[in-house]
Amino acid sequence: MPTRLFIDGQWTPAGAGTISTLDPATGEVLEEVGTASQADVNAAVAAARQALGSAQWAGLLPVQRAALLFRLAELVDQHHEELAALETRDQGQPIGISRQVSVTGAAEHLRYFAGWVTKLQGTTNPVSFPETLHYTRREPVGVNALITPWNFPLMILVWKLAPALATGNTVVIKPSEVTPLTSVRLVELTVEAGIPAGVVNLVTGDGSVGAMLSSHPGVDHVSYTGSTAVGKLITQASAQSNLKRLTLELGGKAPSIIAADADIDAAVTGNLLGATLNTGQVCAAYTRFYVDREREDEFVQKMAAGLQTLRVGPGIDESTQLGPLVSGRHRDRVASLVGVGRDEGAELVTGGSAIDRDGYFYAPTLFAGVRDDMTIMREEIFGPVLAVTSYDDPDEVVARANDTEYGLAATVWTRDIRTAQRYADGIRAGAVFVNMPPIPDMAAPWGGYKASGWGREMGPWALDAYTETKSVWLHYGY
Ligand code: NAD
Repeated sequence: MPTRLFIDGQWTPAGAGTISTLDPATGEVLEEVGTASQADVNAAVAAARQALGSAQWAGLLPVQRAALLFRLAELVDQHHEELAALETRDQGQPIGISRQVSVTGAAEHLRYFAGWVTKLQGTTNPVSFPETLHYTRREPVGVNALITPWNFPLMILVWKLAPALATGNTVVIKPSEVTPLTSVRLVELTVEAGIPAGVVNLVTGDGSVGAMLSSHPGVDHVSYTGSTAVGKLITQASAQSNLKRLTLELGGKAPSIIAADADIDAAVTGNLLGATLNTGQVCAAYTRFYVDREREDEFVQKMAAGLQTLRVGPGIDESTQLGPLVSGRHRDRVASLVGVGRDEGAELVTGGSAIDRDGYFYAPTLFAGVRDDMTIMREEIFGPVLAVTSYDDPDEVVARANDTEYGLAATVWTRDIRTAQRYADGIRAGAVFVNMPPIPDMAAPWGGYKASGWGREMGPWALDAYTETKSVWLHYGY
């Protein structure tokens, strides 16, 4: 139903026309997708508000709410191959990533939060007031706008939807206009799972629809993943409307420190994956490489060789390791930043140009001899572009790695546990990975320091984002 919106349990015609979504491997139009009007957004928010206190939703027992989420996970499993192929067609990611990361990850995440429904506890607290019972309870925050990006459309939607529903909230989903198809399909599956009308609503369209939600007085919380620039606009919209709560998962520019004692072959394998997974369109992708000067030549040479052997092609082809970038616009942005890298004097070791074929392919690119003040070392590129520099002083490198507006992820490659721990202590980022690629996991918190965002997703931390804590004072000594 991609041309329609889903509001209050009905597939409704979109009030502001349609927009095309393309296959990034060919540039061909895949589907037309509806664009919501302000009236559509108002209707979706009103439906979510209405459902919030309804007997069909608020009246469910925890075991019943959990059962709906378990059922949705089962449906995702049943439609595994269909969802994976749809994600690959719309987003471009290699089919193996769609299967193992996006779809399997979505089902596991739904099950994990289904398990939380029956474990949402409050506390009793020793307040200093006589003959008083004090306890806390967790209540849903209310109507949540879930605004998602185009890099892992299905998985990132589920990172938000699963904890939101587990804690009894209602939602209005706004997927990226570039990759809306798996979000539409997931909403169809929520209907099949038996989630009541009004609990899950979907408004598709471009950023203007996201802006309508973030300035809407009827929305209590925006959970947003996307660029830092738009995160700032959402913050302003919140401040100027009802000061709605915000969870922001924003950009990154993760440093990778390769210490003198690192196993270089293992570092090359792990960093290749960390830098090029999903064609580098990963917020935690490793992009800035600080290599001990003694190991620099070996690392650069082996990384470049590794990048050159990656099999580039359409994601739907089973042998593909590196798919296209998501859109022509994004490919042009990556190309322009590579141009800036050259102009500023970085040494191009491999790649450096778009690949001459249909679709939005870009050659994996490595720059060496990069200075800390160069644009490619500072700006998020969100493509397969690596910038390598070296260091002499292990005590200085943490300060250089921290010299960024971002703080989402970082990695250290060493065989010495003291080095690992010293860097893990010193780095200002939401996640530090030692000798491994940047992997999110539903049991570990995910989120950023500094301009990489506010709040945490996953694990019990996600429950905080979607609940209010009520403090109840019960004086029985009157
Ligand atoms: P984007 O900011 O362009 O768009 C994200 C979403 O915001 C889309 O749905 C878009 O339509 C919507 N939007 C655009 N303008 C808006 C506005 N004014 N108000 C409200 N919503 C608006 O981001 P993108 O290009 O789709 O995604 C790439 C970015 O996402 C990168 O910066 C990346 O680092 C970040 N990202 C972060 C994480 C994380 O966990 N921190 C994960 C994935 C992606």
